[in-house]
Amino acid sequence: MAGLASPGSTIAVLEKYGFSFQKKYGQNFLIDRHILEGIVDAAQISREDFILEIGPGIGTLTQYLCEAGREVLAVELDRKLIPILADTLSSYNNVEVICHDVLKLDLSGLIAEKNASRPIKLVANLPYYITTPIIMSLFESHLPLESITIMVQKELADRMQEGPGSKDYGALSLAVQYYAKPEVMFQVPPSAFIPRPKVGSAVIRLTCHKSCPVEVSDEAYLFRVIRASFNQRRKTLTNGLKNAPDIRLPKEQITEVIEEMGLPATVRGEMLTLKQFAELSNRLREREQ
Ligand code: SAM
Repeated sequence: MAGLASPGSTIAVLEKYGFSFQKKYGQNFLIDRHILEGIVDAAQISREDFILEIGPGIGTLTQYLCEAGREVLAVELDRKLIPILADTLSSYNNVEVICHDVLKLDLSGLIAEKNASRPIKLVANLPYYITTPIIMSLFESHLPLESITIMVQKELADRMQEGPGSKDYGALSLAVQYYAKPEVMFQVPPSAFIPRPKVGSAVIRLTCHKSCPVEVSDEAYLFRVIRASFNQRRKTLTNGLKNAPDIRLPKEQITEVIEEMGLPATVRGEMLTLKQFAELSNRLREREQ
């Protein structure tokens, strides 16, 4: 492999193509071989795996993925990187690069076409400015995902893992835990990237549940309840839900449901487990009908 994982080789490629970083695209390229090896290990990639990568950059992580997996599909937004990727990935015949905004792509259709909707692994050093929308759209598109192994801002990795009672517990923690088991694998210092990000990073693996961990009558409604419960963090759960335009129940009924569940009427959303949110949403939904 014509390795890119060092400051020298990355700078050489950037200079060869006169490439300048676009801050608006969250471009922080990995230059540390140990971190790249760590990501591939964390993703547990085998020769049978089809891998989706978001944001290949100049192809540093992509080269490792091509070496470890069966096939790699990489989606890159910045068209200036496309000729560079054609060069750095030229010795691999198991990779395809698509130039597109991942948030505007029909990923399900693409995976159906490229991998007959068989299970895939997602591996990426994500652009930090859109990490949460990317994760949510991956889950909501119901892709046949086995796991998602991603580099994210450290604080966000912590949030995904948190449970009730913590100040970092919120809608993202619940959404991630509804779909997957999150595990922070290791932390990554700013010195592992060019240019260096201002924040610490971490690699997190989300192992997607094979079956849903809670019983929910209406998934979209559950997420409406969760969003409403955390929209106004300092309000009680009852007031958060009462003020939500898409939950059409009067305050008295909301309080009744909360008390039926054996919770105090003044409870805050951040105290409820995923299981309790599922029960709450099922009960509220029933009353709305
Ligand atoms: N994978 C490379 C690495 O590890 O060195 C680059 C990672 S860099 C943090 C994020 C990459 O995502 C950049 O190449 C950036 O251009 C790309 N990107 C940003 N927004 C994107 C989007 N909406 N869709 C697809 N790629 C995007």
